Amino acid sequence: EATPGLDFVRSRVVADNRTGRFDGRVHTRFPPEPNGYLHIGHAKSICLNFGIANEYGGKCNLRFDDTNPVKESREYVDSIRTDVAWMGFSWDDREFYASNYFEQLYQFAEQLIMAGKAYVDSLSAEEIRAHRGTLTQPGTESPYRNRSVEENLDLFRRMRAGEFADGTHVLRAKIDMASPNVVMRDPTLYRIRHAHHHRTGDAWCIYPMYDFTHCISDSLEGITHSICTLEFENNRELYDWTLDALGVYHPQQIEFARLNLTYTVLSKRKLIQLVEGGFVKGWDDPRMPTISGLRRRGVPPEALREFCARIGVAKADSTVDYGLFEFCIRERLNATTPRVMGVLDPIRVVIENYPEGQVEEFDMPYHPEDASFGSRIVPFSRVLYIERDDFREDPPKKFFRLAPGAEVRLRYAYYITCREVVKDEAGNIVELRCTYDPESRGGSSPDGRKVKGTLHWVSAAHAVESEVRLYEQLFAVSDPDDVPEGGVFTDNLNPDSLKVVRAMLEPSLGGIEPGTKVQFERMGYFCADPDSVPGAPVFNRTVTLKDTWAK
Ligand code: ATP
Ligand code: MG
Ligand code: MG
Repeated sequence: EATPGLDFVRSRVVADNRTGRFDGRVHTRFPPEPNGYLHIGHAKSICLNFGIANEYGGKCNLRFDDTNPVKESREYVDSIRTDVAWMGFSWDDREFYASNYFEQLYQFAEQLIMAGKAYVDSLSAEEIRAHRGTLTQPGTESPYRNRSVEENLDLFRRMRAGEFADGTHVLRAKIDMASPNVVMRDPTLYRIRHAHHHRTGDAWCIYPMYDFTHCISDSLEGITHSICTLEFENNRELYDWTLDALGVYHPQQIEFARLNLTYTVLSKRKLIQLVEGGFVKGWDDPRMPTISGLRRRGVPPEALREFCARIGVAKADSTVDYGLFEFCIRERLNATTPRVMGVLDPIRVVIENYPEGQVEEFDMPYHPEDASFGSRIVPFSRVLYIERDDFREDPPKKFFRLAPGAEVRLRYAYYITCREVVKDEAGNIVELRCTYDPESRGGSSPDGRKVKGTLHWVSAAHAVESEVRLYEQLFAVSDPDDVPEGGVFTDNLNPDSLKVVRAMLEPSLGGIEPGTKVQFERMGYFCADPDSVPGAPVFNRTVTLKDTWAK
């Protein structure tokens, strides 16, 4: 029963509220495994779970699904807390850890054993896999399947006590080796792992599996709607079986389609490879689709949330165009960032008729359409920089920028005309000799003559030199996982994903705080990087101005 205007997950919540199924309660959770940094796919899940809780007067838990000590760490826990908070959501005291339930989970496992619904299997991992069968072939029962309750209990207790080596025994649910759903063919509930856990230390040497842990954690926390991605659809039967077998409170699992994005890999396993293989500078490299990477790149959390709202929630897998994400970023930055002048590829301009040593100050608004942004002072002098690309010696038709003999407007300042092109011995243009019209101060002339092109500029004597990092897609192809036989996804990396330039910026940017976002007029949106030091800012290009997204 779909509610018009609502996605299928929210429709479900509304329907359950109507029937009073959970006494009108709405309680979701976001359950990351702390085995990597969160990425934009997780953002979709965060917006869905926290969003639903906020919209329906409910609660959302932040739960760390930390049952695999080998891959998890405190660093990942901390990064996840930072990222969820940065996205604008709060969980107050509702921070939970599956590892806090280890004792309860263990007791539940014994309960299953005593009910004859779980047994200790002593086959090897390989043998268990071989016994499992396939989609078309039923599995075969383990020779250990009919151990007595007493023997199972004894072995399980000794597993806990540390008597056995890794891989020698597992605890399995006793369900149905012929089930058409492979997940139900006596799934493993516990395995032996003599490993140090970042929270429980060496207290345990057996660890519960995801399927066993997740449903019980949901149940213990009183979750109403347990929202997960589609690959867990077949696991729902086990989720339900486990809670029914234990006779405990039973939430509703709902599956939705995970986010896939063009030019992007969204799998922690692959993101770890990028970090560890040195293909990027770290988890927060601005080219990474991680939340920390996006933050460093200058993506505002509002844009990320808007993107998640626009893509919606569906029941079928699809791939979202990266352009939609950029559109959301631009829309937000356009409304919220001051406009300043930065020349990324500078060429010198000497204004021959402008007095040497003279400096004028122009009071320039930070935003042409919004006076509340205020203004700043920008100095003008005889030697300036403009963008190399704004000059053509041999201009094509309709080139309204600078060329020999052509006149352009310098933003908020004067009209200038190019008189001479100075080249070095190799024939490279090193300087443009120009003249200015003193009558055109402020950007228009008394005779009202038409000057089409307006260029950004920076006074050379006052310029702040800055490292600017220009990013392109990290992958050169829209589906990075599409690799020929024998290849790996990293073969698809874009060798030109980072270009570093020395830019000349207006002096107001000299002491900019890391994290500050600006628009360099005509060039794009940029964010000051944490590598900035006073007087030597470093900027990341968040996104260009050009919109390639077809609405
Ligand atoms: P990955 O596949 O990247 O390793 P995961 O699913 O193993 O991710 P978890 O830490 O288990 O990572 O994920 C926490 C939550 O985020 C889960 O509910 C999961 O379904 C959800 N999630 C993960 N990736 C995506 C995605 N691409 N789109 C939507 N939700 C996602
Ligand atoms: Mg996982
Ligand atoms: Mg996964």
